[in-house]
Amino acid sequence: MTEQSFISLNDGNTIPQVGLGVWQTPNDEAAPAVKAALDAGYRHVDTAAVYENEEGVGEGIRRSGLDRKDVFLTTKLWNNDQGYEQTLKAFDASLKRLGTDYVDLYLIHWPSAYRGLFVDTWKAFVKLREEGRAKSIGVSNFYPEHIERIVAETGVVPVLNQIELHPDFQQREARAFHEKHKIATQSWSPLGQGKLLDHPEIGKIAERLGRTPAQVVIRWHIDNGLIVIPKSVTPSRIIENFKVFDFKLSAEDLQVFGRLDHAGARIGPDPQTATF
Ligand code: NAD
Repeated sequence: MTEQSFISLNDGNTIPQVGLGVWQTPNDEAAPAVKAALDAGYRHVDTAAVYENEEGVGEGIRRSGLDRKDVFLTTKLWNNDQGYEQTLKAFDASLKRLGTDYVDLYLIHWPSAYRGLFVDTWKAFVKLREEGRAKSIGVSNFYPEHIERIVAETGVVPVLNQIELHPDFQQREARAFHEKHKIATQSWSPLGQGKLLDHPEIGKIAERLGRTPAQVVIRWHIDNGLIVIPKSVTPSRIIENFKVFDFKLSAEDLQVFGRLDHAGARIGPDPQTATF
């Protein structure tokens, strides 16, 4: 297998472009899934406090036998822990559950703007980065206006924004904004939660390339410079989803994908109107 790829972040750190997502994975499934992924070559895991599986993720990393420094670990602050002091407490609790003394990336999970706390939360994130306990800090589900606000208040630009993004929901405006501000884009639900994999156009490309639909969709994210965190707890799929570094999509294939984008394909809540 060709070497996996990495993305440079605006703070000088690098992130493996493909990671394992572990949403909706209880602790007892998260540990073996993370171990299977690390055995397969993944070096990046994406969890969150609200997934309630940080213990399992930490356990999976320990079971792999890898050095902690060789795994890029992300977790996220849940909305009801926003606020300066509350964030610092919640971060300590996450580290304790993960069984580590730092994370590679800490994200504000949602702006949850109606609370009016995401700026204070970001100030706590800046402190955690200064302390070296969060090596990089970023956001998730932020609209440009939310990003502009935290940058105006602190001068600190998030390294990335993790947003819902899949071939039929390509987020072109958000990506253009991120690019302009040197913010990487990370795709959540990159496979459209699996629903996209039956798409006939994707099936045709996969068949021609001798790949699976999941592999060509993951490759589409890579070829677009996105960071991608497909989820699976099935070892064979975990392995399959990482065998994506020895081929590329052609310009024609990318054009076919380009035409799949359509309004209304969002699966999750719109961060602008979400009230959680
Ligand atoms: P996904 O798009 O990664 O799809 C996962 C589903 O696709 C699996 O449950 C399985 O049913 C199917 N699948 C995976 N690999 C397959 C394969 N090779 N063949 C056939 N089917 C396959 O969905 P997701 O879990 O929603 O998103 C990925 C990750 O993104 C999450 O686990 C989580 O880490 C993150 N996420 C973040 C947010 C956020 O608000 N920041 C929200 C949702 C998800």
